[in-house]
Amino acid sequence: MPADPGPAAPAGPAAGASPAAAPPGPAAACTGLVKIYWTATGEVHALKGVDAAFPAAALSAVVGPSGSGKSSLLRILAGLDRPTAGQVTVADVRLSGLSVGRLRRLRRRLLGYVFQRPADNLVPYLTVAEHLELAARLRRIPGDRDGDLLELLGLAHRSRHLPRQLSGGEQQRLAFARAVVGDPPLVVADEPTAELDSASAATLLEAVRALAAHGTALVLATHDPAVVALAERTFYLRHGAMEAEASGQEALSVIDDAGRVQLPPEALKLFPARRARIGVEQGRVWIGPP
Ligand code: ADP
Repeated sequence: MPADPGPAAPAGPAAGASPAAAPPGPAAACTGLVKIYWTATGEVHALKGVDAAFPAAALSAVVGPSGSGKSSLLRILAGLDRPTAGQVTVADVRLSGLSVGRLRRLRRRLLGYVFQRPADNLVPYLTVAEHLELAARLRRIPGDRDGDLLELLGLAHRSRHLPRQLSGGEQQRLAFARAVVGDPPLVVADEPTAELDSASAATLLEAVRALAAHGTALVLATHDPAVVALAERTFYLRHGAMEAEASGQEALSVIDDAGRVQLPPEALKLFPARRARIGVEQGRVWIGPP
């Protein structure tokens, strides 16, 4: 595998490039998001009314056990799938209700998506530079910033290489580079470090953080504690509902609009009959077994 020197230091915007002005609101938000899959064996309620706001120009992590709804949420945020109910807005544009054509155009302009498998993100016969040129053409913007982007991601010396000549980590960095061409407000990635060794994953994460500092909100579904450690905001999904949200060290439980809150698994054990007494005293709520 070729040597992987890693990205340039994440020193904010690349030389000569002007970062996109961060929109005043969140890069993306969802309210009351429901996703039901109808299968031969019955309905699967993958998302059960998720509310979340993903901050602009920041790295967010979506974590949760397998089957908790991470991929479903990301696909809907990226406009690749539609919710059964609820609203999604990206850069203040409401995705729900758009025609297929408008959604496709909007996706091209405002959204990027990075798959877990590096090879799934790239075209085998295009060089690194050609990937970025194609992305710029699809977004209808001049491709003259590509050199800066490759420099930022430590790929400048690989610009004429094909994907098969790159390491797995370099391939994923190229996938992110392609996704952020033109500074779209939101790029989502489903477990992008899952197929990388820990050194390549760390290098990729540095690169991803540099990209977020550059103006694009990056939302990563992950099992990787290294991603959570770097993320400015972490969303904890469980059983298709948002259990908690953390900025920095402090994780806060989420209370949805209907007043529902998820108990942590260890607390749930106290309620084998699934009934509780709830009281409010002096500005505090207590909950106990009957
Ligand atoms: P995660 O990414 O956290 O593993 P997913 O969003 O992939 O969670 O899945 C949430 C639930 O929805 C799981 O029970 C999964 O089996 C189910 N699911 C996901 N995609 C489909 C689909 N296309 N058809 C039927 N069920 C699905």
